[in-house]
Amino acid sequence: MATTLGGCHFCFLMLSSYLLIQFINEARWRLFPRKVTPQEIRFLDAHFPYFSKLKPIHRKEFLEKLETILSTKKFVARGGLEEVTEEMEILIGATITMVIFGWKNLRLAHFHTVLVYPNTYFSTVNQVYHRGEVNPKHGLIVVSWKCFVEGLANPSDGLNVGIHEVAHALKLANWIHTDNEQEFSPQSWANYNQWVPNELEKIRSGSSSFFRESAGLNEHEFFAVAVESFFERSLEFKNYHPQLYTALVHLLRQDPLVLMN
Ligand SMILES: [Zn+2]
Repeated sequence: MATTLGGCHFCFLMLSSYLLIQFINEARWRLFPRKVTPQEIRFLDAHFPYFSKLKPIHRKEFLEKLETILSTKKFVARGGLEEVTEEMEILIGATITMVIFGWKNLRLAHFHTVLVYPNTYFSTVNQVYHRGEVNPKHGLIVVSWKCFVEGLANPSDGLNVGIHEVAHALKLANWIHTDNEQEFSPQSWANYNQWVPNELEKIRSGSSSFFRESAGLNEHEFFAVAVESFFERSLEFKNYHPQLYTALVHLLRQDPLVLMN
């Protein structure tokens, strides 16, 4: 009985601190909306290919959504990183915006804080070095800045830790209902899922697959890796597996091949 009560008390504390953070983020957004400056737009054009290739009609929409993301998420330096610079905020924020660009109002509210480490960091939980991770319990997206930049440096190799972690956050958010957000439509999710087992099997059996080996670990990794390729190798992905690509188009409510010039 005591355990149950303690558990409930703990849940209550968790929920109230979560709601408090949500409230503060919301108030900050309303009171001090973060605006993207012309200089930052030029920076995005130079360093974020998805944005620079967007058709003019979508650029404005992208910037508005990016401003919402930047206004409602907290960026925190960790592991000896001196500060999260505006450039870091812009590029990480743009990655979040890109992955959820298909939704009108989605902002992955549950994941209220982005932790940025300078390099790979050691996790005491599973005793390995991480390039990034998501922590649904504490609403965190975590990235190593060095790995994030490496992911951006080659925009067409399907390796992008930023996209990877945001994809994990998106998939987790789909099962979290306290954020009052609706991510995947059940039909789109079912449609996507029908193609996954066969691809997982291909990767695990060592037959040639479009996706890297780590995608075979489990369905979560498969999804995150598939989303990386969806944005970075869209055409190759579509040629490799048109049905799976189209299923992701419906799931993510956007087609990079159509959106971009
Ligand atoms: Zn992963």
